[in-house]
Amino acid sequence: MWKVDRFDRQNLLHAIPMANMVLDAGGRIEFSTQRRIDLSDSYGRKEFANRIEDAYEESKIKSDRIRISKDTIRRNKAFDGRPPYGYQTVGEKYNKQLVHDPITSAIVRKMVEWCLDGDTLAGIAKRLDDLSIPVPNKRKPSVNGWAPKTVKDILTSETLIGKRHGAKGKIINTFDPLIELDTWHKLQTLIKMNERKRGSVVKAPGTLSDISFCGTCGRIMHYRSIPDKKNPAYVWTGYRCDGTSKDPSKCKNMVSAAPVYEAADEAVMAIGHWPNVVTEWKAALDVTAELDRIEAELRGLDYDELDWRETQDRLIAERDELKQSEVKAGELRLYLDGRTVADVYRADKRAWLLEHGWTFTVQATGRGQRPAVMVHGRESLTETIAKATGLTADQVMAVQWIPILAALQERGLPTDQAEIRRIAQQAASK
Ligand SMILES: [Zn+2]
Repeated sequence: MWKVDRFDRQNLLHAIPMANMVLDAGGRIEFSTQRRIDLSDSYGRKEFANRIEDAYEESKIKSDRIRISKDTIRRNKAFDGRPPYGYQTVGEKYNKQLVHDPITSAIVRKMVEWCLDGDTLAGIAKRLDDLSIPVPNKRKPSVNGWAPKTVKDILTSETLIGKRHGAKGKIINTFDPLIELDTWHKLQTLIKMNERKRGSVVKAPGTLSDISFCGTCGRIMHYRSIPDKKNPAYVWTGYRCDGTSKDPSKCKNMVSAAPVYEAADEAVMAIGHWPNVVTEWKAALDVTAELDRIEAELRGLDYDELDWRETQDRLIAERDELKQSEVKAGELRLYLDGRTVADVYRADKRAWLLEHGWTFTVQATGRGQRPAVMVHGRESLTETIAKATGLTADQVMAVQWIPILAALQERGLPTDQAEIRRIAQQAASK
């Protein structure tokens, strides 16, 4: 038995052959509103035609409505969908905008603070659970609690700096950021550094594993090496968009590794003469632990020692100073070490790409053709060098770095920004 609703996306011309197939197979045709339609008489057949066309018109209007509303949303630069964590939507239908959610935005800022203080992703998840904070999109704390992966997704999302990307990497919304761009970069460096320490990301199969994305659907491309059946000495290596077992990909996007690696090399080596910036994180001093240590030392003073009184005075002074000092956040230190981008990249390409947060969008373009490779990340590298040197981003891109680096090295690689700027200007004007 067939319900005629099944035909609702097709007009009468499509419906008739289908109806014949159903009847030939000995089936019956029913409408949801009128139980039985007798196709053996003229009245029944006319009724059938009317209902099919009505249903078709209705579905056309429905999809038109969806298209028009999507267009309106795009034209208004409005937000469509579920707001990212930390935000809520305000405004009329088709003109919704993202603003900070008073509660979850405070939680996000807290998470950022903990991360900058040296907490791990798992540590942050535990702290959120301890405070009975519900996971995103839930009103009450759940039994399973926060997963480190959820914490990471929130802390590495560009929504924190007011950007939202579409499937192909294009920015489709901009809004009021929750944290400063500077803080965001610190955060990404820290999270990557912690991951590298655990070794989970570095030991990936391919140079571009986890950092190359499909040009069609935006999902991660997986590294594959497939030996040739006829010629076992030959192994194909490349990246493929295959989705997950639950949600396999239909893109058929598959690219050989070599041309993608070449494109990555080319992009990095184009700025290979730029200075390498060392990013060092000085964790915040744990005041409580430090006070405990001083107390323990005070209690353990050996009064047989000749200088016990001096030691005691020093410890008490240290303790008082510590008590008065404000709780400081960790500190990020950036400096040039005289090496170039090329030096460091060549030593370990994957480590360099991860450290600097570069990602790739790759797309096959046809048999025998080179794949299209889009490189993202140069912008933040420019910012990092600008930050380390005190130059503007434009200056970083414009100056000839080789003579500047030579001049800086001659002076023992100063860390004072005013001096770096002066040397850079001097070298640039020569
Ligand atoms: Zn894909």
